[in-house]
Amino acid sequence: HISITGVSKFFGRHKALDDVSLEIPPGSVTVILGPSGSGKSTLLRTINHLERVDEGFIQIDGDYIGYRRQGDKLYELKEKEILKQRVNVGYVFQNFNLFPHLTVLENLIEAPIAHKQLSRKAAVERAYDLLDVVGLRDKADAWSRHLSGGQQQRIAIARALALRPRVMLFDEPTSALDPELVGEVLDVIKKLARSGTTLVVVTHEIGFAREVADQVVFMVDGKIVEQGSSDEVLNRPSHARTRQFLSKVL
Ligand code: ATP
Ligand code: MG
Repeated sequence: HISITGVSKFFGRHKALDDVSLEIPPGSVTVILGPSGSGKSTLLRTINHLERVDEGFIQIDGDYIGYRRQGDKLYELKEKEILKQRVNVGYVFQNFNLFPHLTVLENLIEAPIAHKQLSRKAAVERAYDLLDVVGLRDKADAWSRHLSGGQQQRIAIARALALRPRVMLFDEPTSALDPELVGEVLDVIKKLARSGTTLVVVTHEIGFAREVADQVVFMVDGKIVEQGSSDEVLNRPSHARTRQFLSKVL
């Protein structure tokens, strides 16, 4: 369970997040929509403490992200402890951040071995299981830079899954792809959604949101202005700003 409580974030004097509160139940899919600059990426980045919040706090299964609580005060964790927390949160960016000089298999076994989660043999076994999940078993020995954009993004998803995170965050995972490659990446994310992984997805793919989102959140100027089921937010939005946005992306 992810619990975001009264989170604000400033960049200089600009308030990128303004008192954001959001509950994300385990196994649910939350889609975040909003115009450019509304704070969607910043919100995702605070969930694994890539951005430090200025007000409020975020908890995953009761643990404070980036902090530990003592009495009624929060103390920031040391880098090593922050890295340990991040193992629970997989992150997939717009630009598939694979290691281009490594093969697909090497990309997938790197993190579990580096974090001493698995032996090399066990990491290779898990890597093949993940390649089955994303439908790319035959690419294990390919150089990642030789894959298509859609294939690279599917491998990036597999790599984020290699540490068995409790939560997966996706920041516009298909927006850098040619249109004909979008479907294969969304299919992998849908499969994860059905498998019960907790997903938070920033995307403009409204069809995807309709199909799999349990919760849709619409942000403007760092604030959540509308929130509800996909039917409520996409079919019966109550704010003019949401209607205006949807009329542009649909
Ligand atoms: P997009 O749809 O374009 O990706 P977004 O909703 O993800 O937009 P954010 O990237 O979260 O928006 O940015 C929110 C606001 O915070 C923007 O005004 C942005 O310019 C600002 N911002 C984000 N990161 C930084 C930073 N590191 N330093 C200064 N300002 C930042
Ligand atoms: Mg963004």
